[in-house]
Amino acid sequence: MTTIAFIGLGNMGAPMALNLAKAGHDVRGFDVFAAARDQFAAAGGSVSASAAEAVRGADAVLTMLPAGAEVREVVGGADGILAHAEAGALLVDCSTIDVATARAVADLAAESGRDMCDAPVSGGVAGAAAGTLTFMVGGSEAAYARAEPLLAAMGKTIVHAGAAGAGQAAKICNNLILGISMIGVSEAFNLADGLGLDRQKLFDIASTASGQCWSLTSYCPVPGPVPTSPANRDYAPGFTAKMMLKDLNLAAGAAAGADVATPLGRQAAAIYEAFCAAGGEATDFSGIIRHLAAGRT
Ligand code: NAD
Repeated sequence: MTTIAFIGLGNMGAPMALNLAKAGHDVRGFDVFAAARDQFAAAGGSVSASAAEAVRGADAVLTMLPAGAEVREVVGGADGILAHAEAGALLVDCSTIDVATARAVADLAAESGRDMCDAPVSGGVAGAAAGTLTFMVGGSEAAYARAEPLLAAMGKTIVHAGAAGAGQAAKICNNLILGISMIGVSEAFNLADGLGLDRQKLFDIASTASGQCWSLTSYCPVPGPVPTSPANRDYAPGFTAKMMLKDLNLAAGAAAGADVATPLGRQAAAIYEAFCAAGGEATDFSGIIRHLAAGRT
C-alpha cells in the first residue's frame, strides 16, 4: 500500500483517485473547490483540509489540474507540494499542460531531490471512471519505475515516452493529428452530401481505403456508420471542442517554441476557436462537422 496525496478532484481527478483507493492505496484528496471535495467525500474518498496536509507523509503526490499555471503554483508555489512533501516523495502530474511548464516543474522537483513524471492521459471521463486510461509518461527511468504501478491502477496502457516533458509532447502531437483529421473527415462527409454521395457508402469505401483513420472508423462525425460515436447523440461529449482547442493551442505554442512549422494545426485551432465562439464549447469536438457544413471556417 502506498500513501498518496491527490490534488485536483475534478471530472478526471476524482474518479482516478477513487480507483487508486480501490486498488488498496491510502489516498487523501484535496481540491480548492468545495463542491469537488464534497463530491469526492460523498463517493467514499478521504479529503484533506489543504494541499499541505494531504502531502505530508505521502509517498506519492498526484496532480490533475486545469492548466500549466495551476500546476506551477500547486507544485512550486510558496505553500505548494515541494514546500511540504516528504524528502523522497514521488510527484506525478497527470494534467494536460505545456511542455515548457512540465519541464520547469520537473527541474524544480529534481533540484529538491525528488522524482517527477509528467503523465497526461487520453480516454476522457469514461476512461477515468473505468480505470482504462492511456498514460503518456515523461521522466527518468527511476521515476517511471516508481510511477508505473500507481498509473496501472488507473489505466490500461502506460507508455514511457522519454525524459521529462515527453509525455506532454506525445499528448499534444497525438491531439494535433486528431484535431486535423476530424476536420478532414468532416469536410469529406460534407462534400459527399454536396455531391449526392451516400454517407454510408463513403464510410464503407474510405474506412477500408487510404482515407482510413480513427476520426472516421471509431469516432465518425455523421450519425449511423459508427453507432457509438457522439454524432449519434447530438454531439454530446465525449471530448469537448473547448478541450480540443486547448490542446491545439498547446501544440501551436510548442511548435513556435521549437521553431517547427505546423500550418494545418494552426488552421485547425482557428476553426475550433470559431466553433467555440459560436457556442460549440461544450459540444463534442466532432460537432465541428456542423460548423463546417454551415459554411463557417
Ligand atoms: P476539471 O476542471 O473538472 O478539474 C480540475 C480541478 O482542479 C477542479 O476541480 C479545480 O477546482 C481544481 N483546482 C484548480 N486549481 C487548484 C489548486 N490550486 N489546488 C487544488 N485544486 C485545484 O478538469 P478535468 O476535466 O478533470 O481535467 C483535468 C486535466 O485533465 C486538464 O488538464 C485536462 O486538459 C485534462 N484532460 C481532461 C480530459 C477530459 O475528458 N475531461 C481528458 C484528457 C485530459
